[in-house]
Amino acid sequence: MKMILLGPPGAGKGTQAQFVTEHFGIPQISTGDMLREAIKEGTALGVKVKKIVSSGALVPDDIIIALVKERISQDDCESGFLFDGFPRTIPQAQAIDDAEICLDLVIEIAVSDVEIVTRLSGRRVHKSSGRTYHVLHNPPQKAGLDNETGEELIQREDDQEETVRNRLDIYHQQTKPLLQFYQQLNERSGLPKLYQVDGLGHLSEVQERILDALESSD
Ligand code: ADP
Ligand code: ADP
Repeated sequence: MKMILLGPPGAGKGTQAQFVTEHFGIPQISTGDMLREAIKEGTALGVKVKKIVSSGALVPDDIIIALVKERISQDDCESGFLFDGFPRTIPQAQAIDDAEICLDLVIEIAVSDVEIVTRLSGRRVHKSSGRTYHVLHNPPQKAGLDNETGEELIQREDDQEETVRNRLDIYHQQTKPLLQFYQQLNERSGLPKLYQVDGLGHLSEVQERILDALESSD
């Protein structure tokens, strides 16, 4: 199974990805997590992208494409993977298609802009694992601490309101057109299958809807 979770920042892609990857036993490939890891480690890539990521702008396509191609060549991706936060632009999607990587499924998690701003201001993250919480909707067992390690949770720098609005604009301009791209690919080759899932409601309700989409795609 090779699939994409598509949706605006804060739609719940990372949250739902955890369950989908367990369901299929495939790795989650989150370009955002990979970039944050590189920034934290201070690698050459990290140094290059630090400012871009904190401003909410997109990292150049060539950097992202090289990063993803290297990642999916690893052994654990042999039976599939879940892209989370990738592709985000037409050139990124085109690069995957040009490499003859055939995607089975695209699930769009739809959430309005107003809801996104609320969600992201309450998002808290465990930095080293990428585990995600929400102060109201998905709180950790102990306030401010990760459930598994007990370490401090942080608020991402790019989750401040103004940066979130910038990221939403970029989403509408550059990422939304991917839906049409995959629709056209589907009309030509029958794949990937496309589903839109309502991202509003409790986490478990959204999970149910994703599960329904997965089952009807079999
Ligand atoms: P979210 O899931 O909240 O939208 P991500 O963790 O996916 O955020 O991404 C955080 C930031 O990392 C983005 O705002 C962007 O700067 C960079 N980034 C992540 N994935 C990509 C990508 N596929 N293309 C370009 N930039 C990316
Ligand atoms: P993305 O990966 O799409 O940027 P996340 O999975 O990190 O989004 O979710 C963004 C924030 O919204 C997190 O704080 C998360 O706990 C919260 N969240 C996720 N799903 C829901 C939901 N269905 N209802 C309310 N809040 C949610």
